[in-house]
Amino acid sequence: MTVQTWRKVSLIVSFALFQFPLFHLFLSPVLSIAGAWQGVAVSSLIIYGVLAIVSLFLGRAFCGWACPAGALQESCIVLGARPIGNRRLFWLKYVIFGIWLAAVVLGVIQTGGFHRVDPMFGVSADNPLRSFLLRYGVLLTMVPLSFLAGKWASCHYICWIAPLMILGSRAKERIGWPSLRLEAVGDRCISCQECAQACPMSLDVSSRASASSMTDDECILCGSCIATCPSEALRFAYSRRSPVVRTS
Ligand code: SF4
Ligand code: SF4
Repeated sequence: MTVQTWRKVSLIVSFALFQFPLFHLFLSPVLSIAGAWQGVAVSSLIIYGVLAIVSLFLGRAFCGWACPAGALQESCIVLGARPIGNRRLFWLKYVIFGIWLAAVVLGVIQTGGFHRVDPMFGVSADNPLRSFLLRYGVLLTMVPLSFLAGKWASCHYICWIAPLMILGSRAKERIGWPSLRLEAVGDRCISCQECAQACPMSLDVSSRASASSMTDDECILCGSCIATCPSEALRFAYSRRSPVVRTS
């Protein structure tokens, strides 16, 4: 199997796991807020913390390789979702993230801090409708959004987890320690644009391949551009920098 096949299998497995009861607890922003207002650190808040730490080493690889929403968004590409059109509204996800964070922080302040950890918080009060909305409320908006605004649109516009990992990615760049990154071998690029067409995040990968850095907040380190490049001008690296590596 190719690397990209493994990636797609990983996304499908993640999506399949999401169908099991209780799994939605692990990513629910609603439960993390509800827990904070009762002084409870719930599983989704813990998972967000883990993802923030992971992003310090792997950037946004979670989005490209393990997010339950990834398989759904890849399916929309197969069904004809176009490249993203409006980039000026990418800030929307930061507003959503800010509202979520403010709600959690206010809850913690109001309750005087976390008093207990409860990974199963939200289970006892569950009912079928609530469970359905918690699990699929966001997922179901992703499909129409992909066709209206462009492929992986929810990742660009509404995902509250994306800013968390973008902040982690920026932090790792600033700190400068080794981390997973996309690397360009600049003088191999023949400007064929295959990478840009393959990029699920609609990034201008070709231009970046000849620039001094491949770093981009919206890059989910999926590797689709690497798999598509006919000149082997792109590759993953676990290194300190994101240089254009010259072969001569
Ligand atoms: S630039 Fe490459 S690794 Fe990044 S999102 Fe686009 S295709 Fe994936
Ligand atoms: S696919 Fe490879 S050769 Fe073509 S533009 Fe992208 S980096 Fe350059």
